[in-house]
Amino acid sequence: MQNTEVLIIGGGPAGITAAIYLKRSNIPFLIVEKYIVGGKTSLTSTIENYPGFNQENGADFALGLQKQLKFNDIDVSYDEIKKLEKIDGNFIAQGIEETYKAKYVVVATGTEEKRLNLANENRFIGKGISFCAVCDGAFYKNKVVALIGGGNSAFEEAIYLSTLAKEVHLIHRREEFKAEETLIEKIKQCDNVFLHTPYIVKKYIGENKISGLELENVITKETNNLNIDGVFLYIGLEPKIEFIKCDIKNNFGFIVTDDSMESSVENLFAIGDIKDKTLRQIVTATSDGAIAAFTIKNRIGNRKNEEKRNIHTES
Ligand code: NAP
Repeated sequence: MQNTEVLIIGGGPAGITAAIYLKRSNIPFLIVEKYIVGGKTSLTSTIENYPGFNQENGADFALGLQKQLKFNDIDVSYDEIKKLEKIDGNFIAQGIEETYKAKYVVVATGTEEKRLNLANENRFIGKGISFCAVCDGAFYKNKVVALIGGGNSAFEEAIYLSTLAKEVHLIHRREEFKAEETLIEKIKQCDNVFLHTPYIVKKYIGENKISGLELENVITKETNNLNIDGVFLYIGLEPKIEFIKCDIKNNFGFIVTDDSMESSVENLFAIGDIKDKTLRQIVTATSDGAIAAFTIKNRIGNRKNEEKRNIHTES
């Protein structure tokens, strides 16, 4: 069992910011990441709305985070936490590789992509269905692709794919989009991006791999088939929270916290996309991480002062 003062679970921008702030405050901590430092940023085509970054490639941003960890002498433990519970005032996190015991836990596990849950979806993942334009876009050079969704992710990745694919079809279930106005304006400038609204996907078509989508107009209920070589799902995100055995979620599965990022369980913090919030962005994730680390630092300081006072009184 590894003992530490603070355990950070998740190595995206939120978790890394918390780690940097804790390190600079000399607080002992461990940061555990399941897959890759940088989280979703490493799979993002461009980052345009984080101050100081202009059209930065997501992978470069993630590389910058890794360099900053190295510069601050912070090691990341690669492990997947399967269970987190609070026992007798301490948190016990059960990983695949190791068990961790900590007084404070900062959950920064983010979200994963939602699916349409249509027939054959699982069968076609990796055979025409993708969740990552940056990872799989190159397979569709001069081909026809569709994206499902009307949020920032669908728009950003459609713009990226328009530089590779012959045609990009963006399919959205409403006439209005959730995406930022600048992205909507940008997409209108892309000659090879076609917007289909209000449409939903009724069926995936294909034998061994996807060859088309059956679309239904939400208003008229008319259906038509669209021939495609691949489809990217950007229909939103689900919190990665199933490992937490404490009752701290809202109805949508996100963790509710106060302004200091603490959940209703004392010393259990949540930061970044996993947290119940109105804006899921790198800029809010890093801010959450800094606030959680600052709160923990102050709490540890207060606890130590209290301990000193108690020793003084006893003697
Ligand atoms: P999102 O903002 O939740 O948008 C999801 C889109 O998918 C919505 O347009 C939604 O339609 C549609 N949708 C949801 N379920 C669907 C279903 N079953 N069938 C068809 N369509 C469905 O998700 P996101 O774009 O992945 O973004 C997630 C978060 O990350 C957001 O907070 C976003 O702002 C943030 N983000 C920010 C940036 C940036 O700042 N540059 C980039 C990417 C992501 P409705 O509109 O009808 O609900």
